[in-house]
Amino acid sequence: MNLVFKNQHQQLEGALSKVLGINASVKAVRHLSGGCINNAVLVTTDQGPFFVKWNHKEKHDMFLAESKGLVLLKDYSRFTIPEVLGCEIVQEESYLVLEFIENGPANQRYWEAMGVNLAALHGHHHDLFGLTYHNYIGSLHQDNTRKDQWIDFFIENRLEVPLRLALQRGVISREYADGFRSMYSRFKDLFPREKPSLLHGDLWSGNVMTASNGDPCLIDPATYYGHREMEIAFTRLFGGFDQVFYDSYQEAYPMENGFDHRQDVYNLYPLLVHLNLFGSSYLNSIDRIVRRFTD
Ligand code: ADP
Repeated sequence: MNLVFKNQHQQLEGALSKVLGINASVKAVRHLSGGCINNAVLVTTDQGPFFVKWNHKEKHDMFLAESKGLVLLKDYSRFTIPEVLGCEIVQEESYLVLEFIENGPANQRYWEAMGVNLAALHGHHHDLFGLTYHNYIGSLHQDNTRKDQWIDFFIENRLEVPLRLALQRGVISREYADGFRSMYSRFKDLFPREKPSLLHGDLWSGNVMTASNGDPCLIDPATYYGHREMEIAFTRLFGGFDQVFYDSYQEAYPMENGFDHRQDVYNLYPLLVHLNLFGSSYLNSIDRIVRRFTD
């Protein structure tokens, strides 16, 4: 066996032993594409397959938050969610080990199940917006400090936090931030009053897999209790899901009229996140929305 492979097998055997307390012999390692942030592999062992992600130990908090989000989703949703098997620092790296989800072709009810299951997840409520712990959206810190009004949570936790970060980093000017903030007064009667819903928090096609039985499976959550329209808006930001998904969701848990008008406002959050992560090319999309809500 080539030395690089041998070292990686040993590294992963050590990690599995520390994280899961098992002495597994690694047979093969397959790198999984799609993950933008971490090393992600399928590890085939004599004790079964495992999904393993790792990164420098500084990122341990990110994996712990992801683990908690997956557990929350597994407890409160009907989706297939990978089981969290362990999360530990081993030497200089943090490892997250999950049940390996075998990919299969989507079944006939796939999009309908997406809609119905998401409606059921959103039907799980809390009294406050936010969560008892902070987590991450991509590699950015996500502030979940709890608030009892959506408009306050949305403006302070979801818009102001990434806006201030962009300002600090010099991606936007103070004048730009002031112009952005002048939109806030228009939000006063914009959002329908609803109870906080449990959200996946980062629901785009890259975070939806198909399990071997053809059902949808969700990964990589950035969970919190939020306005459910935030989640539906985000699914539409980069291409959108199948129409059957939207129809099934609407039938299971109807949304108030006027969502199409509000949708872009919710998407200011992921756009600001993208602005911080990937740069100023997202300013055009943000500007278009700001202009619509300040003119
Ligand atoms: P990152 O944290 O770097 O974004 P992901 O969690 O997206 O990494 O994982 C990378 C890829 O691995 C995903 O695109 C998906 O295809 C696959 N994947 C993620 N979780 C599992 C799992 N539990 N079982 C099988 N494959 C998975």
